[in-house]
Amino acid sequence: MDLKDLYRDVILDHNKRPRNFGRLEPPAFSARGHNPLCGDQLTVYAVMDGDVVSDVRFDGSGCAISVASASMMTEAVKGRTRAEAEHLYAAIHDLLTRADAPSPPELGKLAALGGVREFPARVKCASLCWHTLQAALQGAAVPVTTE
Ligand code: ZN
Repeated sequence: MDLKDLYRDVILDHNKRPRNFGRLEPPAFSARGHNPLCGDQLTVYAVMDGDVVSDVRFDGSGCAISVASASMMTEAVKGRTRAEAEHLYAAIHDLLTRADAPSPPELGKLAALGGVREFPARVKCASLCWHTLQAALQGAAVPVTTE
């Protein structure tokens, strides 16, 4: 299966059946993110157990790429430390923006997001949830925007 097929299958699957969709009540951290280019609006919720992201969910609405990316993100960061989540964020950012980006094995299924590179206008759709997670983990009170 090449990257394009993988990309399509993974995006379709996660958009149709988003994982960890829903909200978490305070004291869970949360942040809202908005991508005005596309109209994607997501809220990401995270519960920290010490330094570990013990639970993470999201809700809101957006295009297939933003929802699938958020769904995959929640699966990828649950049970990871804050530092590991930040490392993944950096790897995803590279993957979305650099044609020669490495695809480290820890990305797992997230590597499928590399297919978004072919649609530059959608990169912000895919990265919105990651910006928003980071804001949530930092306890940011101000909604983040990709602009
Ligand atoms: Zn979008």
